[in-house]
Amino acid sequence: MYDPLVSATPGAGMPHSPSYWVDTAGEAPDDDGPVSGAVDVEVAIIGAGYTGLSCALHLARDHGINAVVLEANQVAWGCSGRNGSFARISGGRVPLAQLIKRYGATRAKAYFEEMSDGLNTVRGLIRDGAIACDPQPDGVYKVASHASHVEALKHEVGLYNDVLNYRAEFVSGSQVHSVHSGAEAFGALYMPDGFSMHPLKLAWGLHRMARTAGARVHTSSPVMEWHSSNGVHRLVTPGGVVTARKVVVATNGYTSPALNRATAGRVLPVHSQIIVTRPLTSEEKRLSLPGSECMFDTRNLLSYYRRLPDDRILFGGRSAITGREADDPRHRQNLHDALCRKFPVLAGIEVDYNWGGWVAVSENSLPFICRVPGLDNVYAGGGYAGSGVSFSVQTGKRLAQMLTGTTQPTSIDFLHQVPKRFPFQPFLRLGQRMTYAWYRFKDSQ
Ligand SMILES: Cc1cc2nc3c(=O)[nH]c(=O)nc-3n(C[C@H](O)[C@H](O)[C@H](O)COP(=O)(O)OP(=O)(O)OC[C@H]3O[C@@H](n4cnc5c(N)ncnc54)[C@H](O)[C@@H]3O)c2cc1C
Repeated sequence: MYDPLVSATPGAGMPHSPSYWVDTAGEAPDDDGPVSGAVDVEVAIIGAGYTGLSCALHLARDHGINAVVLEANQVAWGCSGRNGSFARISGGRVPLAQLIKRYGATRAKAYFEEMSDGLNTVRGLIRDGAIACDPQPDGVYKVASHASHVEALKHEVGLYNDVLNYRAEFVSGSQVHSVHSGAEAFGALYMPDGFSMHPLKLAWGLHRMARTAGARVHTSSPVMEWHSSNGVHRLVTPGGVVTARKVVVATNGYTSPALNRATAGRVLPVHSQIIVTRPLTSEEKRLSLPGSECMFDTRNLLSYYRRLPDDRILFGGRSAITGREADDPRHRQNLHDALCRKFPVLAGIEVDYNWGGWVAVSENSLPFICRVPGLDNVYAGGGYAGSGVSFSVQTGKRLAQMLTGTTQPTSIDFLHQVPKRFPFQPFLRLGQRMTYAWYRFKDSQ
């Protein structure tokens, strides 16, 4: 599998990784094919995931700028076509208590409101574009996977209520069993806002909207070289060279350090993997996930899961460290074991699909929407840490505002800071291995 820390680009024209989403999405919409010859544009966007597509859509629709999107492979070939499908009030991976401690209540609240706005942005686009992406009813549960996690969850509910003025609720162990049967459910934090949908259909819907509004989306067009001089950027792809005054880097977890020295080393690509079971019988459904809500647990190396409309279970979590290890069957087995621990009725259940992708973690574990230092008119958005379905769409909208003159489109200063480079770059994977071992130990207590 492509490993951003090893290969210079994610390939050229590679097909989508086989997945449940690809099998159930229907026909891919038209795109503009590979770049051919010399192209001169005001704005070029690198990466056709939610961030890049949303930026292109908002630039065209709200600001009258028809950008060109350059995608190495297919539209939504990266995370946006292969994620766990939860659109939540989320972005990054900093626990709420820590966020408040780090930035204070006022800034934490402003950030929460921006994330909520992100969820509403997604809802609005689904509505405006009549995107048929099978949205499910709202409801998100953070489930205590161990009795000792219950007090912390209750405390977190208090922070949501008192500091953020948000109506999260604590659901007791006995109540939670109406939506999460089986084991490892000792209570939950419930959030009424947040839903699941079909992520590839959502991406293709945004793509259609962006093109209808005037953007061009070139697939099979990896940016292989990037030359900048006198405020002009030359992006070299296999089929031609795109010259642009402004560039948006929307490559997130798929960013290779070889893309540009200015963006190198600012995100750590972290692999997340998903399995999808065969459809459940009605009895299996009753004894596991009777509803369709979004679920994740309280482990450090957390699992996320939901029941799909055709009664399969999608179950995901962290897995391999490097691309070379990603196809090792033991990671699939680990997910299967974790699924069956939660839902003993599913012991030995067949797995029909298994795939993974690279999420991006920044040095402070929070997203960024910023200008890239050392380059003229280059902007970047990413670092969602595996919680970016809604926030990447929001980031695309904010990037469009920045490109058209708004220096800082939100009041949240830390969002607009340039992500620091990770220290000790050659040892990143070693550090990650040690962190995972420590988390596994803590999760086993
Ligand atoms: C297994 C998995 C489960 C997830 N589950 C959830 C979830 O349930 N909820 C949630 O909120 N988030 C989830 N996420 C995260 C979420 O999917 C991402 O945060 C979001 O899709 C990021 O979108 P993006 O557009 O920034 O990046 P991506 O969708 O990753 O797009 C980046 C694109 O850049 C392209 N690219 C890279 N280099 C170049 C180059 N040199 N030239 C041209 N193109 C290039 C890549 O091919 C890729 O298509 C999950 C991610 C994974 C992998």
